[in-house]
Order: sequence, then structure tokens, then C-alpha cells
Amino acid sequence: MIQLYIPLNFLGVMYREIKQSLTDLDKMFTLMDREREVADASGASALVVPREGAALRFEAVHFAYDPARPILKGISFEVPAGKTVAVVGPSGSGKSTLARLLFRFYDIQQGHITIAGQELRRVTQASVRQSIGIVPQDTVLFNDTVEYNIAYGRPGASRAEVEEAARAARIHDFIAATPKGYDTMVGERGLKLSGGEKQRVAIARTLLKNPPILIFDEATSALDSANERAIQTELSNVAQNKTTLVIAHRLSTVVDAHEILVMEAGQIIERGTHTQLLAANGRYANMWALQQSGEAA
Ligand code: ADP
Ligand code: MG
Repeated sequence: MIQLYIPLNFLGVMYREIKQSLTDLDKMFTLMDREREVADASGASALVVPREGAALRFEAVHFAYDPARPILKGISFEVPAGKTVAVVGPSGSGKSTLARLLFRFYDIQQGHITIAGQELRRVTQASVRQSIGIVPQDTVLFNDTVEYNIAYGRPGASRAEVEEAARAARIHDFIAATPKGYDTMVGERGLKLSGGEKQRVAIARTLLKNPPILIFDEATSALDSANERAIQTELSNVAQNKTTLVIAHRLSTVVDAHEILVMEAGQIIERGTHTQLLAANGRYANMWALQQSGEAA
């Protein structure tokens, strides 16, 4: 029994270790390339982002995660270089899917997605991901230090640059108050961060990366309203003159967008500026009235 017990116990430890590394790997894929089902086309070249910025274009895009259930049903829009376009709509309407497709976690079944006129499937994934900063709805952090997690956006960044980004994302004071500061390990084997703290780390990472294209997917949804307002200002500053797709849960953040797209069940059911959509007195105007009365209450 004793002879058996030791190897089994050892195997148990091994199993947990292996399982943990698989979890890490899995998370890394989630963060970096999702399911590895999307490969670079043979002879794919690097995405070229012109100095004046890159326009993003969706042309009659159809997409389904599972062929039996269409998710995007003919989506067309453009984010002109240096402009901000906002997407709003109920949960499940396909907003985050737009972000995932731009980051090329999946390939589309029909239509075209282009960045600066270059078809997304014909350029390398690495170059696309280098040009895009994404603050996702649910941030997954690496089991590594806070510094690593922020600097990941720009490897080789100095501590001072990491701190500056952390200050702008309103997470510096929190980090500085931990015994090990920026050397604190986070993630499953380290300090567990709340949803809002993780979101702020992701924002710091994106501010530091400072890429020409930005995607904010309900980037401040887990923050309290004081932090949210402060960070919104930082995000609007960083988005100045950058091509930005904002998926918004709070309509007050999209008022100034070049165009607002209202999605429902995989289609764009209304589009226009804030003023145009209010005048149209449709779904957006309705959502706006509801949020205004909600915030007043
Ligand atoms: P939103 O961001 O507007 O809430 P999503 O784009 O996340 O919506 O999701 C749109 C639809 O796609 C939802 O019905 C969701 O259940 C489905 N979906 C999202 N991710 C996956 C996935 N990985 N596999 C299958 N279905 C998915
Ligand atoms: Mg979403």
C-alpha cells in the first residue's frame, strides 16, 4: 500500500501541474489566437498601416460559430481612418463577435473584412494583432507579474512607462499598495483581481501599446461610475485620431461617435449619428430615454 501510495500521490501532483499548464496554454490561446483554427494564408504578408491611419471595413459579412446557427447576417460598415464608430444593442446581438472577427479569432463564411484596404485573411495574424489594441469584455491575465501583464502590450517598455500607463488606467495606486508592487504575481497562482481591476490592467496594457487601431468591448463595464468616468476620458484621449471601434454598454460614451450602429440579432437595424438617431425616434432613441431615466433615478 505504501509503495503504491507514493507514486500515485506523485502522479496526482504531476496531473495537477499538467492540468494547470494546459489551463495556462488554453488561456494564452484565448488571449492570443483563440482556437488556432485560423491559419495564415500561404505567402501572407504583413499588414501595412499607412501613416494617416487605417480604415476598417466590413462588407456583407456573414458569420456563424456553428453552421446551424447564423450569428452575423450581412453586416456592412466602415470605420474611416482616425474615426470612432460605436456599436450598441442588446446582449447576444453579435457585438463582441465583430471584435473577435477583427482580431481574426475566426474566419468569416461570406463577405470581406479589410484593414487599410487589405483583406484580413491575406495578411499575417501577428501583424494584425500588433496593429490592434483590444480591451475585451472579460480580460484574461497571464499567471505572471503585474508588470509583465501591462508591458505585454509593448515588450521592452520601461518601468516608468508601465507606471505611467497604470496611472492613466487608475490602477497604479492599487498596485503600489501591494507589498511587491509591480512584481506581484497575478492570476490563479497569485493575487486574484476583481473584474474591474483586471479591466484596468487591460486598459493600461492598451494605453502602453498605443496601436493605430483600437477596439473597446464594453471596456469599462466592470468599473464603478467614478472610475468609469475618469477612464473614459483617458480612453477618448488615446482614441484621438486612431481608428476606433467602441462597443458600448453606456450610451453616454458614444454621443460623439462618427457613426453609431444599432445591432439586433446579427443585423444592423439603425445607424447614424447620435442626433440623427434621436431624431429618427426609433430603437436608439428608446434606449437613450431608458438610460437617461435610469441614471436620473
Ligand atoms: P454580444 O457581444 O452582442 O452580447 P456576442 O457577439 O458575444 O454578442 O454573441 C452573439 C451570439 O453568438 C450569442 O448568441 C452567443 O451565444 C453566440 N456565441 C458567442 N461566442 C460563441 C462561441 N464561441 N461559440 C458559439 N456561439 C457563440
Ligand atoms: Mg459582448
